[in-house]
Order: sequence, then structure tokens, then C-alpha cells
Amino acid sequence: MRIGSGYDAHRLKKGRKCVLCGVEIPCDFGPDGHSDADAPLHALMDAMLGAAALGDIGKLFPDTDGRWHMADSLELLKKVYELISANGYTLGNADITIILQSPRLSPYIERMRASIAGALGVEISRISVKATTTEKMGFTGDGTGIASTAVVLLLYC
Ligand code: MG
Repeated sequence: MRIGSGYDAHRLKKGRKCVLCGVEIPCDFGPDGHSDADAPLHALMDAMLGAAALGDIGKLFPDTDGRWHMADSLELLKKVYELISANGYTLGNADITIILQSPRLSPYIERMRASIAGALGVEISRISVKATTTEKMGFTGDGTGIASTAVVLLLYC
């Protein structure tokens, strides 16, 4: 067994699409960035890569490379899991926390779990997505940004 952790944060911008765990959330602002800025998926990919000691998404998909401009993070996640699998690992489970003041994410959590499980081809019971606020404190509380953490267990087989 190998454990890995990931963290990501993005600035929120008016008029940007809000795509979290591959699910579009109706909202007049969204995470800003080079790719689709899907912070929870970026944290998840870094947790997977960390567990396998294979670097991070900045190394795999550098933002200086035009190929990853506005990249669909679900597609990047599939590429990361292909690499993980090629190194002999399978996903035990993943636990993701999204830190955002608004909008409320509870109506979308099950779709987010299904979206990740579908991309990875694993049972939904292996994927946990949680959301929390920071009680209006800090950059995740005042509407400046979104953050996400992820913990992953990989099984070597
Ligand atoms: Mg990111």
C-alpha cells in the first residue's frame, strides 16, 4: 500500500465556468487558471502521483506547454491513472475535500463521485468527495478562491 496527499488552490473569477470534479456547477464565477482549473481533480492527481512517487501534475502537464491550455482535467486524470496503472498500482480509495464558501455543493456531490469513478473505471464506493466552508475566513471564505485537498491509497499488484 502507498499513501499520497494533494493540495490545490485557484483564484475565482467572474464569468469563468465552474467545473469541479468534472461536473459543471451553475454559477456566475469559477476557478481561473491555465487549464479548466478543476482544483479537486488537480489535488486528486497530485495525491495519486505522490503515492507512487512519480512527481506532480506541474511536471507532467507544464503550463508552459500549449497542449494543456484549457485542458479537460478529467482527461488529464485518465492520463495520470494510466501512468499509475503502468507502474503496477491500482486505486484503493480516494478522499477529496473541496473548500469553498459558495455555492453550496451538496446537490452535486454524488455526480462528482460518479464522474471521477467513471473516468477511472472504479467502483463509486472507492471515491469520497466532501465539501466544507471556512466560515468566511481567509481566501476560501471571502470569495477570492477555492482550495481542495485529496488523500489517496494505492495498492501495488
Ligand atoms: Mg490547479
